[in-house]
Amino acid sequence: MKDCLFCKIIKKEIPSEIIYEDEAVVVFLDINPVNKGHALVVPKKHFETSLDLPDSILCDVIQIAKRVAMKQMKELKCGGVNYIMNNFKAAGQEVPHAHLHVIPRFDEDDLVFLQGNKSGYEDDIGEFREKLNIV
Ligand code: AMP
Ligand code: ZN
Repeated sequence: MKDCLFCKIIKKEIPSEIIYEDEAVVVFLDINPVNKGHALVVPKKHFETSLDLPDSILCDVIQIAKRVAMKQMKELKCGGVNYIMNNFKAAGQEVPHAHLHVIPRFDEDDLVFLQGNKSGYEDDIGEFREKLNIV
């Protein structure tokens, strides 16, 4: 897509630190890393979110993310890895081209994503089990 930042990176119109590329995905380092080695796995075709992605491309993305995570564990000696995907603005998506964050984690690195949030919806879990059943 013409004015998309990540499409421009994929077409090499904008420089980036690419660590992997094949016909389906490209992986480059986040320009504003939340931890060392923070990488983004990006499908080459433009789709706005994971909800638009064909399942086959979603599989490519997660398979490559796993390889990136294994490399981060080995080379950075991190103790764990977060996969994070923001879908739509309400979920914090800033770049409207689907991408999966692969973030190395270290004991006591003090990053906080979803831990410890209190929603107050604990009593309604049964209601949502019925409403959100996808079978
Ligand atoms: P999100 O909020 O999930 O849309 O995340 C977008 C991510 O893209 C952020 O973590 C940004 O730091 C990152 N980002 C923005 N511009 C660039 C760029 N030119 N190269 C690499 N990463 C970028
Ligand atoms: Zn794009």
